[in-house]
Amino acid sequence: MKKIRISGAGPVGLACAAWLLQKNPNLPIELYDRLSEDDRIFETADTRGIAISQGSKLLLESIGAWHPNAPAIHTIHVSHQGHFGRAIVRREELGQEALGYVVRYADIHLALRQALRSIARSASQFQWHFSHTEEIAPQQDQATVLIHAEGGLFKDQDERPIHRDYEQSAIVGWVKTNQINSHYAWERFTSEGPLALLPSHRGEQFLNLVWCAKPDSVQERLQLSPESFIQALQNAFGTRAGEFLEVGDLRAYPLGLNAREEIVEGHQVWIGNAAQTLHPVAGQGLNLGLRDAHTLAEELLMPDSIANCLARYAAKRQQDRRVTIRSTDFLARIFTSKIKPVIWARGLALSALQLMPPIKSKITRQMMFGQR
Ligand SMILES: Cc1cc2nc3c(=O)[nH]c(=O)nc-3n(C[C@H](O)[C@H](O)[C@H](O)COP(=O)(O)OP(=O)(O)OC[C@H]3O[C@@H](n4cnc5c(N)ncnc54)[C@H](O)[C@@H]3O)c2cc1C
Repeated sequence: MKKIRISGAGPVGLACAAWLLQKNPNLPIELYDRLSEDDRIFETADTRGIAISQGSKLLLESIGAWHPNAPAIHTIHVSHQGHFGRAIVRREELGQEALGYVVRYADIHLALRQALRSIARSASQFQWHFSHTEEIAPQQDQATVLIHAEGGLFKDQDERPIHRDYEQSAIVGWVKTNQINSHYAWERFTSEGPLALLPSHRGEQFLNLVWCAKPDSVQERLQLSPESFIQALQNAFGTRAGEFLEVGDLRAYPLGLNAREEIVEGHQVWIGNAAQTLHPVAGQGLNLGLRDAHTLAEELLMPDSIANCLARYAAKRQQDRRVTIRSTDFLARIFTSKIKPVIWARGLALSALQLMPPIKSKITRQMMFGQR
């Protein structure tokens, strides 16, 4: 029987372990988690709001890890600060219950931990090593596979072959407005980078903020008083979502593209952010990572050699990874460009998108479900 070691128990590593054990509770799996066993660590953990696609919701539901209080996105409004061009996508156009959902990173992480605990109750050979800080070396024996799910943020990772520093960071936090904005998400391309406002679990007057800009501007903005920060945000976003009244939980994240060319080497395999770290402009990083984890679990459950399972895994993930990495990189580059013809072209592209429903629908479907 295959022995499986998973290094990293972020959302992607946890989901992979859960899918494996759900189908085969007798699998010998060792999961190495840097965090402690005590769930109270999530009370002060990462509050970034993550846009989860409809496809990821279905995947998470299959292991009982869906967070019940995740607000749904019914309409996405894309615009361009100071220029013409906008696109609006509505759930009705795609015949979907929602275009996506927003869940705090800490809530997804905790829901997956609890789901895995529940699934692992009947798993006799599962070991979960908490507070584990050492690197896991690959085993030499032919029966063991090492899954790298160490994830991480762009600036903390070793440089990989597909690498681009957009010289951007994001300010993440929440904003309170004087307007009810049910199920609405905005993505506004500003001269410094994308600015997204997404529904929040806090209530209909609250929005999750992801504001990308040069790292120096981000640091300066974080030093502002709350009143000055709100004024700067209002100037950058406008008044579509109402008047901003309060902000909170503001934190900065470094952004960039850092991806592996090869995701399988011998009996080692890389998934999630350990395989590819993306700019959040299209909200695809975790969604892509969950698809990695699910496909890998399905392949490893096959009664076949590890080499064959991993070869099939790499082949199956090639197209989805390539399209998602390239389209995210394209968006991150054109929407931060200061070159005049590029600025005009992106306004035209947004208007054209609005006038061509089949293309709009194709792009949205790729973002919701990945390449299938
Ligand atoms: C500002 C921002 C906004 C984002 N918005 C979106 C969005 O809207 N939609 C979306 O899909 N994605 C989004 N993402 C991306 C998303 O957060 C990541 O893709 C996702 O967290 C990757 O999950 P992961 O489990 O692969 O890695 P991580 O979340 O980084 O988890 C890895 C875990 O492994 C642990 N670890 C590391 N090294 C070791 C080791 N040696 N041994 C044991 N454990 C180890 C870490 O402590 C961590 O707990 C965003 C990212 C940022 C920065």
